[in-house]
Amino acid sequence: MIDKVAIITGASSGIGHATATMLAKNGITVMLAARREDRLQQLRDEIVNNGGKASYKVTDVTSYDQMKELVDKTLHHFGKVDVLINNAGIMPISYMRKLKVDDWNRMIDVNIKGVLHGIAAVLPTMQERNEGHIINISSVAGYEVYPPRVLYSATKHAVRIITEGLRKELLPEENIRTTLISPGSVDTELVDSVKDEDVLNMIREEGSLDRTISSDDIANAILYAIRQPSAVSVNDIIIRPTAQR
Ligand code: NDP
Repeated sequence: MIDKVAIITGASSGIGHATATMLAKNGITVMLAARREDRLQQLRDEIVNNGGKASYKVTDVTSYDQMKELVDKTLHHFGKVDVLINNAGIMPISYMRKLKVDDWNRMIDVNIKGVLHGIAAVLPTMQERNEGHIINISSVAGYEVYPPRVLYSATKHAVRIITEGLRKELLPEENIRTTLISPGSVDTELVDSVKDEDVLNMIREEGSLDRTISSDDIANAILYAIRQPSAVSVNDIIIRPTAQR
């Protein structure tokens, strides 16, 4: 069993939900964060009924104040934060020429600023303890760009650069690990944020929803990074369906 405390954003569905469940099964205490309280409550109850340790806090990652409150609550309840998993993300993609500026801003706010708020909220306590692990969820879209995923891809490139830059900046004094997880197509609710009919048709035609891996496959990769000895830093994992281009 792993004696650690982990905060997971976006724990109300998909990859975050599966990760919380898997970490808790391995003895890790989990603090669940997202906006939908009913889902967080249900997951907390499931974990606790199965013998795990969990709590939750309704949190919007676009608010730095709420992220700080999330870290404070974790410290208050569980005494430390060993791991932060910046997983919350949205993907309301559309072709750039359609000028969906509100959606661009939302993706920047959740996918980039949310990650930065998490880092800023958790670094002081990790630096104080000279120990910690920040895990950011990017995407294969963080390595390439295919319209209509331009803005989404830009946010995931930013997450990749921020993660690697943070790793270098914290060297060599701080014993704080960083891990970037970049999934390919995973079967979750993420695609529900796509509203544009042209894009939905394109996604159906390319068949990417027909070859997906599961949230558990991503959770496994996250657990692998966490369970390494503290001198071993797993920095970068790309994990996608074998049949994905
Ligand atoms: P889901 O839509 O299932 O989960 C997204 C999670 O983010 C939800 O729990 C949602 O909770 C939360 N969230 C969204 N906005 C906010 C916000 N403002 N504040 C707090 N939480 C928020 O999708 P996935 O599980 O697939 O996505 C998880 C991560 O994985 C994302 O970063 C995504 O970009 C990335 N990813 C996913 C891939 C896939 O194919 N599914 C591929 C590559 C990367 P709530 O609405 O309750 O707040």
